[in-house]
Amino acid sequence: MLIAANKAVSIDYTLTNDAGEVIDSSAGGAPLVYLHGAGNIIQGLEKALEGKTTGDELNVTVEPEDAYGEYSAELVSILSRSMFEGVDELEVGMQFHASAPDGQMQIVTIRDLDGDDVTVDGNHPLAGQRLNFKVKVVDIRDASQEEVAHGHVHGEGGHHH
Ligand SMILES: [Zn+2]
Repeated sequence: MLIAANKAVSIDYTLTNDAGEVIDSSAGGAPLVYLHGAGNIIQGLEKALEGKTTGDELNVTVEPEDAYGEYSAELVSILSRSMFEGVDELEVGMQFHASAPDGQMQIVTIRDLDGDDVTVDGNHPLAGQRLNFKVKVVDIRDASQEEVAHGHVHGEGGHHH
């Protein structure tokens, strides 16, 4: 069976950045199971897995535009501390949910604190980074109609609901 749309695919993977640091890995745990063609995983990786079969191993380098996007300076803004009412102590690195101008929820990270100024960054932590995946295809099966309708896999490694 080959990887194509509406297949439930299990992969072992290790993700490193260009500095060789491991960002994420399935090593020591269960494989990642995803629904192919549903945008469950980043686009560049999904594209590279298309047509592969069980046992295939591949190294995939994904440019930022096919991963978490280019780093955008427009997503960095300076807010006043009074916007964070109810938070006892602000610290660099803290993350908050915020609603973007288009109404979408986004996660912002505090980058800097200076007096009353709080610099927040709405970029994904991996924005602007080239991602290097080492992937092994562990299993491929047909997704159920229900999984296809939901846009994600169920059962082991998937959603339970
Ligand atoms: Zn579901």
